[in-house]
Amino acid sequence: LGAPMFADLSGDIAVSFEFFPPASDAMATKLWSAIETLAPLGPRFVSVTYGAGGSTRERTHETVKRIVAETDLTPAAHLTCVGATRAEVDEVARGYWEAGVRHIVALRGDAPDGQAYAPHPQGYANAADLVAGLRKIADFDISVAAYPETHPDAGDSAVDLDNLKRKIDAGANRAITQFFFTPECFFRFRDAVAAAGIDAEIVPGILPVSNVAQTRRFAGLCGTAIPGWMDRLFEGLDDRPDARKLVAATLAAELARRLYAGGVREFHFYTLNRAELSYAICHLLGLRPKPDANAALSQDQAA
Ligand code: FAD
Repeated sequence: LGAPMFADLSGDIAVSFEFFPPASDAMATKLWSAIETLAPLGPRFVSVTYGAGGSTRERTHETVKRIVAETDLTPAAHLTCVGATRAEVDEVARGYWEAGVRHIVALRGDAPDGQAYAPHPQGYANAADLVAGLRKIADFDISVAAYPETHPDAGDSAVDLDNLKRKIDAGANRAITQFFFTPECFFRFRDAVAAAGIDAEIVPGILPVSNVAQTRRFAGLCGTAIPGWMDRLFEGLDDRPDARKLVAATLAAELARRLYAGGVREFHFYTLNRAELSYAICHLLGLRPKPDANAALSQDQAA
């Protein structure tokens, strides 16, 4: 109630899209097709994740470099500090700056195999420390992570908010949230962030879910609650991928519409390298390809 109908939405939003680096030629083709589909929507940046423990360091770098070389999109490179010395992390960051990458998503990362996190003896202690380090290297645009349902390591939400404040105070420009499934969850968090005196932009991370089992695995790791009603919505659809996609798009679009009604104008999409769901949700929010739809792609790509 009170939320505008989709027909009333004018597309006055800013979006960003997150991808993961491909592990094979076939996956690279799929990723590139997703980028080509989403580029005309004019995202303010597209980000590329850094595999657990820096495991995709080279592939992340290759993907980001290809975005720089072949598109006019603004790339954002994820960078974690877990398991690496400061010198190693700094070298990666300098490499990005030299390659023309100006936006870093600065993260701590996780210890392998569910072990408790411990900083590398010569490494950055956590994401706040990493942000401070990046600030010394160059004038990066820096995004950090935020957790509407509290990070599992934080103990309680006050500790988590203090940590977010440390990251912003260290020089981060905005926070992107972990995915969540109810608008109330985001609004409660946004209020708590404001009450904690944090005035940086908090961008909701939207995960268009079409596979509840897979999402449950991700969610279990990061402390996101999957509401019971969501399981029920996907019940009986295991063998009906098309119906599942429609349900998924409806759910994510409804979440985005209610966030919009609550004043949200920035959205970050966890695309999982698939374009259609994110494209459909952006479309429902009123976003349309920019007049020069191929502007974000280079001549070669647009041909
Ligand atoms: P931090 O902010 O350093 O801390 C994590 C938590 O630990 C905090 O919430 C805080 O409450 C607690 N904590 C930190 N320091 C202290 C302290 N001194 N005392 C008490 N508690 C403390 N992971 C990847 O490996 N690659 C990626 O590309 C990637 N991209 C992501 C993108 C987004 C938008 C998000 C939300 C997460 C991403 N992650 C990624 C996951 C992230 O690495 C994990 O969630 C990790 O466990 C925490 O990283 P952080 O940067 O939030 O850590």
